[in-house]
Amino acid sequence: MHERSLVQRLLHQVQQIVAEDGGGRVTEIRVQVGDLSGVEPLLFQAAFEEMVSDLFSSECQLALDIVPVMAVCDDCGQQFEIVDFQFQCPACPTGAVQVIQGDEVKLISINVSSDNPVEGVAS
Ligand SMILES: [Zn+2]
Repeated sequence: MHERSLVQRLLHQVQQIVAEDGGGRVTEIRVQVGDLSGVEPLLFQAAFEEMVSDLFSSECQLALDIVPVMAVCDDCGQQFEIVDFQFQCPACPTGAVQVIQGDEVKLISINVSSDNPVEGVAS
């Protein structure tokens, strides 16, 4: 399962960063997931919830930012959003395009609390 190995890699990455930063209690991990990454957000979330308690508190939340697929036209340089896998510049009929965003799974930020946790706070 693709998502499980991604989550595992992500958690180890976070663990390393937090350790280098002097430790603390991880409360939120924010990840950017591109529409083209092939990641199924629900499966990613499920894998995260299953594995997070091994390394961090089970109260650690996952925040997924789903980003659209963006491409740039090789011919005219226009940037545009790819919708329905239409990899074509809206201005050029034969334009070759390059994906510049949307195929990534990227760690964006980690919230770490070094204080005593406040229980039962709704966000
Ligand atoms: Zn173009």
